Formats: sequence, C-alpha cells, structure tokens
Amino acid sequence: MMLDELREEVYESLLELPKNHLVTMHSGTVSGRDPESGLIVIKPTGFRYDKLTPADLIVMDLDGRCVEGTLRPSSDTATHLYMYKHRSDIHGIVHTHSPFASIFAVLGKPIPPVMSSAALLGGEIPIGGYAPVGGEDIGSEIMAKLGDCSAIVMQNHGVYTFAKTVWKATIYAVEVEDVAKIAHYAMLQGDPIVLSKDQVEEFQNIYATYYGQEED
Ligand SMILES: [Zn+2]
Repeated sequence: MMLDELREEVYESLLELPKNHLVTMHSGTVSGRDPESGLIVIKPTGFRYDKLTPADLIVMDLDGRCVEGTLRPSSDTATHLYMYKHRSDIHGIVHTHSPFASIFAVLGKPIPPVMSSAALLGGEIPIGGYAPVGGEDIGSEIMAKLGDCSAIVMQNHGVYTFAKTVWKATIYAVEVEDVAKIAHYAMLQGDPIVLSKDQVEEFQNIYATYYGQEED
C-alpha cells in the first residue's frame, strides 16, 4: 500500500471529527498531500467513520486520477484538488459542517475573533459566498476570500481549514468550532468584545514565541 504514513495521519484525523462532534454520519472530509510525490490521500464518499480503515482511503493525483483505491472519493474532492493546485503551502485540508460554525454559514456572517485562540486561525474567520457542492466554484470562492486565514466558513454549507499538515488542519477545525460556539452563546447575551487587529497580532506573536513548536 502506498503512502502509509500519510494514510495513517488522514485516518487518525478523520477519527477526530466525530470524537469532537464536528460531523454526523457521512459528512466531512479530510485530505492530505504527500510533499514528495504530490499525491493526495482523501476519504471515500458515503463511508461510516466507525467502519473506516486506512486501507479504504483513496490515493489520487492532482488531476483527480485514482492512483490507488477501489472506492469512490469524497464528493468534495474537486474543492480539495483546487486548493492544492493553487496553494503549494497547503498539505492538509479538513471540511466539516460543524454546527456552531455552520450557524454563521447560514447567517452569511464571518466568525468574530472573540477568543485568543482565534488568532491562531488568522483572526476573523471570513465568509465565502454560496457555491454548489462538487465543482470547482467552491475552490475559486475560497481562494478569493481566504486571505491569510487558515479557515473559512462557506455560506449555507460549512467550514474548511487549511494547514501545512493534516493534523494541524484538524486542530484548526476543532478551534473554529470552539470559537464559533463561544461567539454564538456570547451573542445571545449581548455584543461580545471582539479582539482588535493589533490584539490578534499580539496573540500570534505570543503563540509563535511560546507555543511555536511545529508538530508533524
Ligand atoms: Zn460539505
């Protein structure tokens, strides 16, 4: 079997999604790119998380040609391929319909940086416009709106996170939901205090200095 390590990382990340209440049944996708070969490992479509094994994951090239695997790839594959093609720095992508972030998606609103952890994601998490699932329109909309952020909420759809590694993109998916949850509950009680751009930068520097260890 090809790309054992990357398969394992994608598999372990997929298991984190139901564990952290980010997905239900078949929803959600994780993919990773092997820096050497440029090949992508991605979840098959419509597959139960508790039945999944690393061997069920699909290996494909950047043009979407299956290199290894017998199952059909995630319905979200075109979006992942689009992002890998356009951002050479991205090697891990997580997509979920996590509920609190998706509240902002259906309101068509960005998620405000109400917690210091939002700084890790780039501050305010932008909102991308509506685009149908399955084609390249989601990818081009993400590219247009993502900026320097590591996460984006797509209108009436869900959340995408991007990172240098699959595991980091998975941590970001959990962080987005945490920030969205606190922002949502805070908004029920009034106007939350939102971090300024300077405060976001200050937190980014603190994280880089004190928590700057890169995990694989
Ligand atoms: Zn989706």
